[in-house]
Amino acid sequence: MKTKILITGGAGYIGSHTVINLLKAGYEPIIVDNYCNSEEWILDQLHTLTGEKIKNYKADCNDIEKLDTIFKNEQFGGVIHFAALKAVGTSVLEPLNYYKNNIGSLLSIIELMAKHSVPNLVFSSSCTVYGEADYLPVNEQHPIKTAESPYGCTKQMCEQIINDCLKSNKLNSAVTLRYFNPVGAHPSGLIGELPLGTPNNLVPFITQTAAGIRSELTIFGNDYNTKDGTCVRDYIHVVDLAEAHVKALDYLGDNKPSVSLNIGTGRGSTVLETVKAFENVNNLKLNYKIGAKREGDIEQIYAETSLSEKTLNWKTKHSLEDAMRDAWNWQKYLGTK
Ligand code: NAD
Ligand code: UDP
Repeated sequence: MKTKILITGGAGYIGSHTVINLLKAGYEPIIVDNYCNSEEWILDQLHTLTGEKIKNYKADCNDIEKLDTIFKNEQFGGVIHFAALKAVGTSVLEPLNYYKNNIGSLLSIIELMAKHSVPNLVFSSSCTVYGEADYLPVNEQHPIKTAESPYGCTKQMCEQIINDCLKSNKLNSAVTLRYFNPVGAHPSGLIGELPLGTPNNLVPFITQTAAGIRSELTIFGNDYNTKDGTCVRDYIHVVDLAEAHVKALDYLGDNKPSVSLNIGTGRGSTVLETVKAFENVNNLKLNYKIGAKREGDIEQIYAETSLSEKTLNWKTKHSLEDAMRDAWNWQKYLGTK
């Protein structure tokens, strides 16, 4: 019998890609999503892509009674907890929503995992926990810095909650994945990121500018201490990121110790390099200008990945160009809907 895995936020950007990889690896993903930042037609896309009807529940992870029934019915072998609000800027304006949703949902999940003896948790954390890194590439031993936003703070607090619950045996085992910058889309162009309103993130802003939805991209600052003056990030293709979740579940299935891991490529790219990669691979010109720095932006960060590669027996396979091509394919597909 296939191991059932609860995928909270499974209709979202990273969750939907992970569902595909989990199916391929022989797991049975079951989605719980409240669609606050996704749409139900993504389930049809997953059906088209995989030929499988993915079992799913429309529910809020803070609704512990509803979730309790789902846990009782399904007997999960593990949980991947993606569900969270993720807009850094909005979290500054609406901190209560962010704390309630992101912390509350993790508390319900851990409580129910304990109650129903579900052993393994994979949690979505972020490289934001490192803040402006003291050294690069940043490894997992780097100190956790004071959070720059309520969103970042929820990720730090969630990591702390997981560690405390592991120590007290309220949680059997967990892998915390600290994502760097997820970009790109499924190569089919049928699923990808669905930004609500004006995107805050670079790549959806690039693709919407190329599509004519935005008139131009503003590059936030070009006098940083980097090779071309623009900020550096570690952009990881979402399909590689999805696969890391499968490997994390495999790892926990072998009763290995709980661990926090960086999930990035190990390579830093500037904003200008990213724009150029988009232009080159898609053979088009992007309208962009240099503007003021964005408040709170980190100058540069990229991952030391040796621990995650060794621990999970995983490595990224896709290039920045692949991600830019796939992100554009997805944008073009959205334009047809
Ligand atoms: P997303 O918004 O596309 O997906 C999150 C999904 O969770 C959405 O489908 C949303 O409807 C759902 N959701 C949110 N709160 C819920 C709740 N209380 N109950 C049920 N469903 C709920 O985001 P994503 O980019 O796929 O991110 C997934 C996870 O990865 C999040 O925890 C996010 O903080 C984390 N993360 C994302 C990035 C990034 O840049 N995308 C970087 C680092 C970490
Ligand atoms: N960025 C930019 N213009 C935009 C959006 C982002 O120049 O419209 C830059 C931003 O300053 C940062 C990089 O692109 O250096 C990645 O930004 P994103 O918000 O995607 O990720 P994060 O800053 O959270 O790592």
